[in-house]
Amino acid sequence: MRIENGYSNKGQWWKGSFHNHTTNSDGWFPLETVYKMYAGYDFLGISDHDIITKHEGERQIKNVFEAIEVSSPQTHMLLVNPPGSLLDGYSNAFTIENYQRLADMTIDNGGFSVLVHPNRFFSQFWKMEDMMRMERCIGIEVYNGDGNPEYDIAFDKWDALLSAGRKVWGFGNDDSHVYGQEKRAWNVVQAEENTKEAILASIKQGDFYVSTGYGFDRIQAEGSTIVVDLRSNELLDKMYKYVTFFGRDGKVLKEVTGRISQAVYECQGDEGYVRIAAYLEGGYAAFSQPLFVN
Ligand SMILES: [Zn+2]
Ligand SMILES: [Zn+2]
Repeated sequence: MRIENGYSNKGQWWKGSFHNHTTNSDGWFPLETVYKMYAGYDFLGISDHDIITKHEGERQIKNVFEAIEVSSPQTHMLLVNPPGSLLDGYSNAFTIENYQRLADMTIDNGGFSVLVHPNRFFSQFWKMEDMMRMERCIGIEVYNGDGNPEYDIAFDKWDALLSAGRKVWGFGNDDSHVYGQEKRAWNVVQAEENTKEAILASIKQGDFYVSTGYGFDRIQAEGSTIVVDLRSNELLDKMYKYVTFFGRDGKVLKEVTGRISQAVYECQGDEGYVRIAAYLEGGYAAFSQPLFVN
């Protein structure tokens, strides 16, 4: 049995979001205000609809990403680090060919593509068969901070894609438009340094997790054993935790609760993948990427 574990970088954990709006599209606030709303973040992407907002002006956030949300009336796709030439002859028309072309340009530029809010059924969402037709897509937004619990989470589609053999990572983003939507969901990336190159490399290998407030200190695979060190300190260690290990088709493999700081799962070999959700008493959560069991 071999466990493919993306959590292998040294360094520290960096926090950021890739999907947020400004007044350059339908956000309520100009770029300078959005920078202030995200004070304390290590990195931030701005992804206005069908336009690449240039980063400019004063900000405390050290590492910023240009991005674009390709926004047809049917489906939305986030492209992080697209080339400027993406806008030459740009169209947001939803055909797999057009979306794939835009994604390919971004990936060839060192960036990545994410299928966002796939379950937002009242407006823009992704059909499973269309998601399966998109190639080289690095992941899907499993947690969108827009604030609608029926539509803004997509763990079901993530498990369906993973179970169909697609290696896709889960992302958490605010998709912030208005005041109050900031700092709800983010990505925590393990990398040696907080540079664009290092963050992109860690994202591509799956060395990050989604957080709504809780976290992991370390996720290791030793032989057939997965060892999860939950974020720990004197205060957190007194609080109750709920940890679930999920496998193929979203099957619950194991649940652990208690005032714990570590959870362990022994792989049987037929899981396909194992991903971990950890909740802290009060509801703050952390969602790991899948570890693949071969
Ligand atoms: Zn959208
Ligand atoms: Zn958006």
